[in-house]
Amino acid sequence: MIYFDHNASTPVRPEAAEAMRSALANLHANPSSSHREGQRARAAVERARAQVAALVEARPDEVVFTSGGTEGDHAGLMGAAWAAEARGRRVAISAIEHHAVHGAAEVLERLGYTATHLPVGREGLVDPAAIATLPADTTVVAVMLANNETGVIQPIAAVAAAASARGMRLVCDAVQAAGKIPIRRDDLGADYLVISGHKFGGPKGVGALIVRTGAPFEPLFRGSAHERGRRGGTENLPGIVALGVAAECAARELEAEQGRLLELRAQLEAGLRAALPGAVVHGARAPRLPNTVNVSIPGARSDHLLMALDARGVAVSAGAACASGAVESSPVLAAMGVSRELAVCALRLSMGRGTRADDVARVVAALAESAQAARNLAVPAPGAAR
Ligand code: PLP
Repeated sequence: MIYFDHNASTPVRPEAAEAMRSALANLHANPSSSHREGQRARAAVERARAQVAALVEARPDEVVFTSGGTEGDHAGLMGAAWAAEARGRRVAISAIEHHAVHGAAEVLERLGYTATHLPVGREGLVDPAAIATLPADTTVVAVMLANNETGVIQPIAAVAAAASARGMRLVCDAVQAAGKIPIRRDDLGADYLVISGHKFGGPKGVGALIVRTGAPFEPLFRGSAHERGRRGGTENLPGIVALGVAAECAARELEAEQGRLLELRAQLEAGLRAALPGAVVHGARAPRLPNTVNVSIPGARSDHLLMALDARGVAVSAGAACASGAVESSPVLAAMGVSRELAVCALRLSMGRGTRADDVARVVAALAESAQAARNLAVPAPGAAR
């Protein structure tokens, strides 16, 4: 199988898998225990905290371990909103946020908050000037660093500056960006940054919320003083240890990988243009992650394409959701003004550490064949029953 679905999840790095196995075998004590065994476990958690902090150039004591991106998005948005409740009960999120951020905003709405949506332009970019138009009782703004479907990278530093000028805090979901592009938290200016281990070679079910020193925060999980009172619950020690190792490896390889993937992306897009005239790459003119291409092949529905590619040994994601036979276009592409006709033909191709140039060539060839198969499926033969 050629795996072109790294934005969904990545293979665990051998170094991270070994660190996890070793932690499971050797570190059984509770990191909160005062005895020597407990202190060994604590030391392993703190080492991982420093490794994760280094990936985004933050301080180790700003790192709060979570169960992944979904929890980080909830804890960030809700924790920031609750902490600012005295000033207002309104949050603003971009229209292209991940379901996890939309979900957290919906919970807040059920609690009596109002959620405003920030639109994006045709290339999928939020306009930082839109922050100036938000109602004055907005306390928290959430804009992701890189979109999971298109890979489009948002102008976070400008958004953060505009939010800060109005006394609003910024939650930035960096789940797809971490480990793929360099992140300096202070350059971004985000008050709360979210990352998830399984998107950069760590295990699933572990991640981090990085809370800037001095940013107000109310914990989502209460009960004990874990994570300096910011997230109750005994730490997922094996996962955290593996997350730390994955973060360190990703940071070390980041520059070389970024350049290598950019070349592969150029090869992929050139191949698509040559083999499939009419194919449209979404967000093509915006800054994008080096590993992601979201493409629509007119006339070839994404659910049909996905099956045809799977049969040819290629794993990708559809850029459209299929609910009970009807294809729904992605809210991200809809927010970018992509027509429904084109959006239901969108595919997300996402490469990673294991991707090589000959994989790209094989995917282009498989896509050309699959597009023909998908078009044949979509167009009933003359006289066929409807
Ligand atoms: N945010 C973004 C941008 C994502 O792409 C994802 C996962 O696809 C998440 C959040 C959720 O992360 P997790 O799977 O760790 O809960």
